[in-house]
Amino acid sequence: MAKIIMKTPLVEMDGDEMTRVIWKMIKEQLIEPYVDLKTEYYDLGLVHRNETDDKVTVDSAEATKKYGVAVKCATITPNAQRVEEYNLKEMWKSPNGTIRAILDGTVFRKPITVKGITPFIPSWTQPITIARHAYGDIYKNTEMKVPKGSKAEIVVTDSDGKETRALIHDFSSSDGIVQGVHNLDSSIASFARSCFNYALETKQVVWFAAKDTISKTYDHRFKDIFSEIFENEYKEKFDALGIEYFYTLIDDAVARVIKSSGGFIWACKNYDGDVMSDMLATAYGSLGLMTSVLVSPDGKYEYEAAHGTVTRHYYKWLKGEKTSTNPIATIFAWSGAFRKRGELDGIPELMHYADCLEKASIQTMEDGIMTGDMAVLSNLPNKQKVNSEEFLAAIAERLDKLMG
Ligand code: NAP
Ligand code: MG
Repeated sequence: MAKIIMKTPLVEMDGDEMTRVIWKMIKEQLIEPYVDLKTEYYDLGLVHRNETDDKVTVDSAEATKKYGVAVKCATITPNAQRVEEYNLKEMWKSPNGTIRAILDGTVFRKPITVKGITPFIPSWTQPITIARHAYGDIYKNTEMKVPKGSKAEIVVTDSDGKETRALIHDFSSSDGIVQGVHNLDSSIASFARSCFNYALETKQVVWFAAKDTISKTYDHRFKDIFSEIFENEYKEKFDALGIEYFYTLIDDAVARVIKSSGGFIWACKNYDGDVMSDMLATAYGSLGLMTSVLVSPDGKYEYEAAHGTVTRHYYKWLKGEKTSTNPIATIFAWSGAFRKRGELDGIPELMHYADCLEKASIQTMEDGIMTGDMAVLSNLPNKQKVNSEEFLAAIAERLDKLMG
């Protein structure tokens, strides 16, 4: 059988530890037999990031801007222990943070649902996609302890030097704490556009929630920006597809999410998204089944798994042991990228291959063959825990039939 020919290269961002090991296996066993793989390769492994003073991360993000579609392996975000372990010149920043800032993108996380793994909320028959606004609020705060007898104010100095003041609190009766937070209209607008574009692409309803009844200026600004952009730029397109956007209070949203059947995009402010995405991941099952895509407001895509480099498994693998690491979210990062590339370049065979790759993966799990993280959750009677190599071989077998 002739291999599928690609037109534009995918931006390939290699990574670290166990996911780097699995990355290579996926390419060799599931991709290269079918696709004449064309990538522009960037090695974001920590060793190479350190060698290039992290320039490779910036270059890979720039390449994503140029070509439009990237696929990324999980990478180490260094901490003090990693600086020592890898003898780093500096504690390099999170690659995901760097890439997100350059693309001005929003991260959408969506669980893969399979027969045999029932979410903790059994009515969730479809996946819930969560979108987190990854800029500002408490993540870029300024905070202080305040001694009793002090007065805290907000002071804004405009470009002419004119000051506007507002009292936060008069600390006459007790010591206390204060915090200053901000956000940018431009960032909120990018967030809104990424959410609406992704909704059009995936034909899903968008929910956005904040607390504008309490935060009458700050959270209200989010609500207004979403509403203005929706009415002016998206309403007609949403109507044509029969999907909708609605705003509600965050506490109402939480109640509705629990009672829903899934199948929508939940847009969250930064902190809500941080907390709720962990809640959703756990409620749907394994981190190994959570996909992630960074979408920029001008339509650039970077696909990855939501999980990290699975360090504990890597140290077992280094000792020569077989591990049962789940490759599914990484496989779906590749299939997502191929489907998007196929769509942009008009290559239906590439989109068909992406569908088959996902189907083969799901068939394998639904046939009861799975890695350990899934085996502990699955209620299939015939389930069988296998190692990563055996699991990939079982997928390859099914993929071969589907492609043949
Ligand atoms: P992690 O790599 O996601 O792993 C946490 C634990 O979750 C694992 O030890 C494993 O549990 C389970 N797990 C996660 N993915 C799995 C998979 N595919 N198959 C089976 N089990 C899986 O998170 P971490 O240990 O906090 O972080 C490790 C490194 O990854 C860190 O250096 C961090 O900076 C990096 N990280 C990168 C990204 C990214 O690139 N997007 C995201 C998060 C973390 P058991 O050990 O119990 O089997
Ligand atoms: Mg979190």
